[in-house]
Amino acid sequence: MKRVDLQSYKVLTGKNLEAAVAAGASEIVLAEGAVLTPTARDVIRRAGLAIVANHNGASAPPVRESASPRAIAPAPPAPSPVLPRSTRSDEAILNSPEALVIKQEMIRVGKKLWDRQYVDGNGGNITYRITPDRVICTPTLLSKADLTLDDLCLVDLEGNQLAGKAKRTSEVYLHLEIYKTVPEARAAVHAHPPHATAYAISGRVPPRCVIPEQDVFVGSVAISPYETPGTREFAKTIVPYVKDHNTILLANHGLICWADTVTHAEWYVEVVDTYCRTLMLAAQLGNGITRIPPDKQAVLLEIKKRLGLPDANYGLKECQLCDQPETPGGITVCPTACPQNCPGGCNSKSGDLETLIKTITDEVMAALNANP
Ligand SMILES: [Zn+2]
Repeated sequence: MKRVDLQSYKVLTGKNLEAAVAAGASEIVLAEGAVLTPTARDVIRRAGLAIVANHNGASAPPVRESASPRAIAPAPPAPSPVLPRSTRSDEAILNSPEALVIKQEMIRVGKKLWDRQYVDGNGGNITYRITPDRVICTPTLLSKADLTLDDLCLVDLEGNQLAGKAKRTSEVYLHLEIYKTVPEARAAVHAHPPHATAYAISGRVPPRCVIPEQDVFVGSVAISPYETPGTREFAKTIVPYVKDHNTILLANHGLICWADTVTHAEWYVEVVDTYCRTLMLAAQLGNGITRIPPDKQAVLLEIKKRLGLPDANYGLKECQLCDQPETPGGITVCPTACPQNCPGGCNSKSGDLETLIKTITDEVMAALNANP
């Protein structure tokens, strides 16, 4: 057990923490109000470092996050209005001409998910909110490749089946939490795409500022903690994230995407799985990842705002746009999407980001000290 005193640092980067680890530290002492960069937090978690009370005998000092995006994100514009409440019977809603179009779209999307190997066995499910409190959903125990019009059913927002012959999916609660939390959400797709699920089982989310397609259509991906699939407790795990994220990784399970249409929700599954796959391929090259510059990232965010898509980064300053915050619940974020200990130095590019964060934070601290 070795304690290393880092109280002389006002801002600690990943390099500072790695030096402490190299010196054999198992515990670190931080100055009150010290700022940890995201990579520094990553090192602390990876190395299992304990933050202990400072020398004055006080409890562990409050440590500030650099660049937390959730605090100043305004609500994005709604992508589409929800249909007016219906006076028709539930059978009539499920068998209406507009429901027929939606059911045909769900069948097409189910086939696409299966063709792309995003759903296995009877896995995955698709829903569409056709009125404010009525949702069309796929059935349980059926491959998404084999859906027919008769298989689709209608439920209310509590999951009670109201119409349709086949029994509704047990995962419908997951979708319903989205509809109850996000008024503009009209469709949701849950699947098990292998590359995104690989991130989900490693407890990591892919970084931003790497490929424009991902940042515009998906952006920050959240990750929700594990719960038993099909339960109401499982469904509740995504609630904190759904307003600011249209894509959520489900720990040790898969993902769920919501959108204005079923087709768009399936697009997001494609975008994020291809993105995760590309990051894995890039990591194998062993040369780190080059980021899109923050000023160009701001342009992407503007495009996204015009499209009416949600994003946790609206309202952030340019210098914060490509930072990788820690997600609530203590799950780490990999700044470079590289595996640990990969040869060639995964953090070679992110070192620049660390320097930038440190410089900016130093300036902020100096301004605070000048104007207490
Ligand atoms: Zn599932």
